Amino acid sequence: MKKPLHFNSRTIHGGQHPDKAYGAVMPPIYQTSTFAQESPGVHRGFEYSRSGNPTRQALENSLASIENGEYGLAFSSGLAAMDTVLKLLGPGDEVVSTHDLYGGSYRLFRRVFEPLGIRFRFVDMQHLPRIEEAIGPKTRLIWVETPTNPMMNIIDIRAVASLASGRNILLAVDNTFATPYLQQPLDLGADIVMHSATKYLGGHSDVVAGALVVRDKDLADRLYFLQNASGAICGPMDSYLVLRGIKTLHVRMQRHCENGREVAAFLRAHPLVEKVYWPGFEDHPNHQVARAQMSDFGGMISFVPKGADYQDAVRIAESLRVFTLAESLGGVESLAGHPASMTHASIPREEREKSGVTDALLRLSVGIEDARDLVEDLRQALSLLG
Ligand SMILES: *Cc1c(COP(=O)(O)O)cnc(C)c1O
Repeated sequence: MKKPLHFNSRTIHGGQHPDKAYGAVMPPIYQTSTFAQESPGVHRGFEYSRSGNPTRQALENSLASIENGEYGLAFSSGLAAMDTVLKLLGPGDEVVSTHDLYGGSYRLFRRVFEPLGIRFRFVDMQHLPRIEEAIGPKTRLIWVETPTNPMMNIIDIRAVASLASGRNILLAVDNTFATPYLQQPLDLGADIVMHSATKYLGGHSDVVAGALVVRDKDLADRLYFLQNASGAICGPMDSYLVLRGIKTLHVRMQRHCENGREVAAFLRAHPLVEKVYWPGFEDHPNHQVARAQMSDFGGMISFVPKGADYQDAVRIAESLRVFTLAESLGGVESLAGHPASMTHASIPREEREKSGVTDALLRLSVGIEDARDLVEDLRQALSLLG
């Protein structure tokens, strides 16, 4: 058997072949809904672009390769990918998930699938006994997100996989924050990896897309059936953009990690900063788990300015100049967010404060600019507090 390429080569070559028609090195954007047939049912592998499209297939092959999986599926958004996984379930089935889940995932669970008869239990997955207690005879899916948003908690994927195994329970991991550069959930025992490809995989804040990767053929067939039957596929142009993003994933992630390290250290040493949440700190509560399952710690950081209230945090967010105040993350440019007024505004204050999302918490997606400019920007914004 041929030795597989290393990760940093698979981002570029994984599952990719020169185009069959003219040998184009980059996969062409097959912006077509349908494909000519020579005779009814006789075609060259593609009939209709919901069922399959060569540009989407190139992306799906790449996704499977970088996540160490066998089968990739590309969707119109991260939530469309999740929606497809949940459609594997039926009324009466139960799901165990983290209590500090991405807000859109929580809404999909509670507002769309709970009314259809699926039960959800949300637990603090940093504590394995809580997961074990929540698992019952009807549990069919465990949904993990790690690192979590915005508190940067780390969940031990391998330990959760051992709880799920032998019980006919699927383990799905939302790998959006870590990306396969830092963490490969299928190798740690997960059955399904999910991505909001909108974030680091796309990497340039110019596309909304989602992904699933699995190893099991039967599971892949069931997911493909749902993808085609429900139809939330990734279009050819968007597939091309994500594929183009993936080719630089490793170099971008390396810089995100370096800049993240510098920004985290700067904030932690700053006299006007109360608390910094970043899994790379040795005294982060799950630092050892992070070290074991991730190759580095990424560029997502949350922090609380000292003695700050809601208005102070808003003022700091408004005065940043290099960081752009915006939802989302994972692009080349640095973004800042104020969860209490933005991503987590719909969660009642008491509930969000229980998981640490206080009025003054700010979240950074550290981009790949010169770290000195990022540090300087934070310094000038924090000086408003002094
Ligand atoms: C953005 C995000 C999603 C949802 O993905 P969309 O592409 O916006 O549908 C899911 N999980 C996480 C962790 C995210 O950051």
